[in-house]
Amino acid sequence: MSTIADRIVPDVGLEAGIAGLTTERIQEVVNQTLKGETGAKLKAYKETCMRCGLCSQGCHFYMSHDQDPSYSPVSKATETMYELIDKKGKVTPERIYQMAQIAFTECNLCKRCAHYCPVGIDIAYIMTMVRRICYLLDVVPQYIRDTAHSHSSTMNQMWIKDDEWIDSLQWQEDEARDEFPDLRIPLDKEGADVYYSVIGPEPKFRTQLIYQAAAIMNAAGIDWTMPSHPGWDNSDMCMYVGDFENMGRIKRAHYESAQKLRVKRIVMGECGHAFRSIYDMGNRWLGYKEMPVPVIHAIEFYWDLIQEGKIKITHKYEKPVTIQDPCNVIRGRGLMDKLRDVVHFLCEEVVEMTPNREHNYCCCAGGGVINCGPPFKNTRMEGNRVKADQLRNTGVKDIVIPCHNCHGGIEDIIGYYDLGMHGKFIGDIIYELMEKPEL
Ligand code: SF4
Ligand code: SF4
Ligand code: SF4
Repeated sequence: MSTIADRIVPDVGLEAGIAGLTTERIQEVVNQTLKGETGAKLKAYKETCMRCGLCSQGCHFYMSHDQDPSYSPVSKATETMYELIDKKGKVTPERIYQMAQIAFTECNLCKRCAHYCPVGIDIAYIMTMVRRICYLLDVVPQYIRDTAHSHSSTMNQMWIKDDEWIDSLQWQEDEARDEFPDLRIPLDKEGADVYYSVIGPEPKFRTQLIYQAAAIMNAAGIDWTMPSHPGWDNSDMCMYVGDFENMGRIKRAHYESAQKLRVKRIVMGECGHAFRSIYDMGNRWLGYKEMPVPVIHAIEFYWDLIQEGKIKITHKYEKPVTIQDPCNVIRGRGLMDKLRDVVHFLCEEVVEMTPNREHNYCCCAGGGVINCGPPFKNTRMEGNRVKADQLRNTGVKDIVIPCHNCHGGIEDIIGYYDLGMHGKFIGDIIYELMEKPEL
């Protein structure tokens, strides 16, 4: 059995964070946070855990490390939160480094283990609160800290200026009009049926997704709009850093940008964590009883369009595909059947991974782990050998992946384990198959 001390990864954010810490400061922050921000749930989790270890089989880190107990969910909770509670926060700065490494990089907050626990203990919640404490102590991996800072400074995680955002949309509109002469990307259209919402990396690295979404909206005759103002970036690394104040600020800006336009609903692009931040974390932090504007994920949107006969394809995708079930939309939101309806509508042959649906393994990128950057890439690769096996065993080459983070994580796994596979968004496939005007 390894220990966290055996596998410390150098990270400037974590190192700089603990350099300024004292045991007194740690105690103060731990006890204030436990008293002010946790309650009966955490106490019940700690007191009802039987140390039975059944959660271990649920975790891809544990399974991928030859069942090393150090990676089991219960061990992660014991080595972090339970120790902080037992010692009333009296731990050294070096121990905080170890706890931060466990919580930020050895748990994807994917909640798979909760399915295996006979009393439903949610280790992801416990790790989230460990991250919160580390954030308040300023002990956060550098890369994800930078991303969260960018978002809280500029209201998007990529430092995209307001005019660059508008330029990117207009550029995609221009490009798409060569193929679809009537196409528009309407900006700030008040009262539109659909407010289409993307994450910061789309205008920066994946502009084709905006192009494709515009093509689909155009072909389906949707009354839609995109916002020209801050609030457009629905991603949320503040949520994963533990900076709940800025998470709430970002989610409020997002909702308010839609309310300002009096749109009927928000359609989120193919992203898992952004969806979680708006249906689960940010809305709760803000104390919303109901969503101020109805929100659906792209899977639900495409499913609706298919039911209404608004997506017309010339033929089905011929090569066999498999499906990645992103935790935040499948385990978190129950969209597994709709995802399959959409993929079966589009594709001739679907080969399921085993296990699948709500039992699917996380891609190991989620929970902000991929955003912790290059220092922790090997943690992700070695921590998800089971995903590589799962993918390889399907025998197919194409994977439908309706989540940005899963794309990043799975592309890395494909490269590291030499799987020779490719990830596709649903939008990629619809665009490829859809009827297009003859020019
Ligand atoms: S990575 Fe997922 S399965 Fe593993 S401990 Fe975290 S929430 Fe549980
Ligand atoms: S399965 Fe539940 S009760 Fe058993 S060790 Fe894991 S968290 Fe504790
Ligand atoms: S990146 Fe994808 S698979 Fe991984 S936690 Fe997020 S939704 Fe889950």
